[in-house]
Amino acid sequence: MPATPEVATPLIDAHGRTVSYLRLSVTDRCDLRCSYCMPERMKFLPKKDILSLEELETVAGIFIDLGVRKIRLTGGEPLMRKNIMHLIKALGRRLDGGGLNELSLSTNATQLARFAEPLAEAGVQRVNVSLDSLRPERYAEITRWGKLDAVLHGLEAAKRAGLKIKINCVVLKSFNEDEVDDLLRWCAMEDFDLVFIEVMPMGDLGAQTRFEQFLSLQKLEEKIDADWGLIALPDNTGGPSRYYRVQRLGSRIGFISPLSHRFCALCNRVRLTCTGTLFTCLGQEGNKDLRAPLRSPHDPITATREAIFAALASKPEGHVFLIQKDRVQETNRHMNTTGG
Ligand code: SAM
Ligand code: SF4
Repeated sequence: MPATPEVATPLIDAHGRTVSYLRLSVTDRCDLRCSYCMPERMKFLPKKDILSLEELETVAGIFIDLGVRKIRLTGGEPLMRKNIMHLIKALGRRLDGGGLNELSLSTNATQLARFAEPLAEAGVQRVNVSLDSLRPERYAEITRWGKLDAVLHGLEAAKRAGLKIKINCVVLKSFNEDEVDDLLRWCAMEDFDLVFIEVMPMGDLGAQTRFEQFLSLQKLEEKIDADWGLIALPDNTGGPSRYYRVQRLGSRIGFISPLSHRFCALCNRVRLTCTGTLFTCLGQEGNKDLRAPLRSPHDPITATREAIFAALASKPEGHVFLIQKDRVQETNRHMNTTGG
């Protein structure tokens, strides 16, 4: 593999953490309305504020030149963005010696059947597919109208195209906790990694709703350990997931549990919204606009770099999420806006 270029000024925050991972949201729009992610009548960002594909490519390039080695495209639903393959192909050209080590995608997989092959050809190695239930009626309920079949076809196509697949499952109290064993068996059989995610209080859905949705993954982890046997793995993405080998299935699973298990000390990532707002923490409001510097008539690259460094200097030590019966501390923005 060609050597990764040296970085003159790496992205190091005030807490000594090196940022090497960018989550890049390419749209806040989505063809589904997962009930923990956004309300049914979601108000989307004004189209005029959304960065063009060329601007997204430029800003991603600036991050790569500053030491970002891993980019995950997200949204909203990234495959709903018109002409998204233009951006993906351009970023794919930064793999293999162009500074980028990994290009991946978070997707709900409704469009994956037609995109799997071109994604693999462009250099995407892995897709993280959001799937909270294997039961068609339940899947339709949680997504408000999604069709499970479309997702399963998408997954088959992704497998055929040679993409590695990780299933992201948000576990909700009294909704899908009873499917955990089915999901474990199914993912092991299909050779998919599986990550259970704790619901996060992002965007107003009503404090009561959040409390009713929330299930601490700590107990779930203990139960899976007792039933299936978990061996901790050293795999660390510099992020929130803790990974295990499932002894009785041979598969790999992870847990993202920001509320029951704080993960911030190793955080290596930042998130850019599709309107060019840089969030250095998923669970805080602090942000920096990169759209204005990107559009600056005078040396936009330098202006954008400076804005990125300024944002990094104030990257918070950790999130402030809280979900209790009588109190919820949440972000004002929904997950689809920030880019999950
Ligand atoms: N549409 C794509 C998808 O669903 O994978 C990408 C964007 S989605 C916002 C990214 C991830 O965020 C999904 O796995 C989704 O389940 C998760 N997510 C959305 N809202 C969440 C919340 N409030 N708490 C925890 N995870 C959430
Ligand atoms: Fe859309 Fe993903 Fe949010 Fe579901 S989780 S509504 S698929 S953006």
